[in-house]
Amino acid sequence: MSNSTPLPQVAWIGLGIMGSPMAENLIKAGYPVTGFTLEQDKLDRLAAAGGKAAGSIAEAVADADVVITMVPASPQVEAVAYGPDGILENVKAGALIVDMSSITPQTSVDLAKAAAAADKGLRVLDAPVSGGEAGAIEAVLSIMVGGEQAAFDEARPLLDALGKTIVLCGPHGSGQTVKAANQLIVAVNIQACAEAVVFLEKSGVDLSAALDVLNGGLAGSTVLTRKRDNFLNRDFKPGFRIDLHHKDMGIVTDAARNVGAALPVGAVVAQLVASLRAQGDGGLDHSALLRSVERLSGDTAA
Ligand code: NAD
Repeated sequence: MSNSTPLPQVAWIGLGIMGSPMAENLIKAGYPVTGFTLEQDKLDRLAAAGGKAAGSIAEAVADADVVITMVPASPQVEAVAYGPDGILENVKAGALIVDMSSITPQTSVDLAKAAAAADKGLRVLDAPVSGGEAGAIEAVLSIMVGGEQAAFDEARPLLDALGKTIVLCGPHGSGQTVKAANQLIVAVNIQACAEAVVFLEKSGVDLSAALDVLNGGLAGSTVLTRKRDNFLNRDFKPGFRIDLHHKDMGIVTDAARNVGAALPVGAVVAQLVASLRAQGDGGLDHSALLRSVERLSGDTAA
């Protein structure tokens, strides 16, 4: 974009663990950002970072060229998009809507249809992310996009301010399908790491040394790098909440069943995530899968 062309006006809906640092990265890149979210302290944080806090979705999107949503799950995306107070009703004609939440692929397909039916020239992309809170802060997220090439090209400069690996995966919903696969891989990887941690500790091996050498070989992973200290310090402050991973394991097991793909290990890990949540640990980071392995291994204090 040339210096003389003003950057698009952005509305950001959902300023949680991910949304806040992502919106701040857009502000740092020079975008004017107006935000709306449910917690006042998050609105104050946006204003302190140079954004503008809005009192409603309608107010946030009124002047927006691009609307970005980053809310927990499908029901919240539907709540912010639809109805008289929602994005579709209140946004300017021709706006681009980029939903970065992790939701069911079908919800993304339905949103694209509803946006087309609004007859205002709206374009929609599903653009869920991977990389966690650290990836959001560092603007190195992987962003998996579904939708039309032209809308992707238009969104690309904004997405470049948020992430590093940005790929158009196919039509509406494809980004969500890839994100569901991502969540399957991450959950199984965390579970394997958690089992290794309990095994190593019970064997009397120095855990820190073991994780270092494991991470240098084929067992190494971004999960092990990012969650190493959570495991070592039993620090389960989120990060990515078990509640959200439970939602994602539901998405991937359901989507896989719909296409006839068997996920035997994924199904077991989905049950372990559900069990952790049922035990009251839904608000903890997903590295707390370690707790569940400890309990299964007879550690009553875990
Ligand atoms: P969060 O719970 O921290 O934040 C969600 C935000 O959405 C909250 O600030 C809330 O106020 C807002 N919100 C909910 N309903 C709203 C409404 N009706 N109107 C306006 N705002 C509303 O969640 P998060 O961890 O930031 O995750 C957001 C999405 O990103 C989820 O879909 C999650 O699965 C996905 N994700 C999270 C991570 C992570 O590490 N936390 C990583 C990748 C993807």
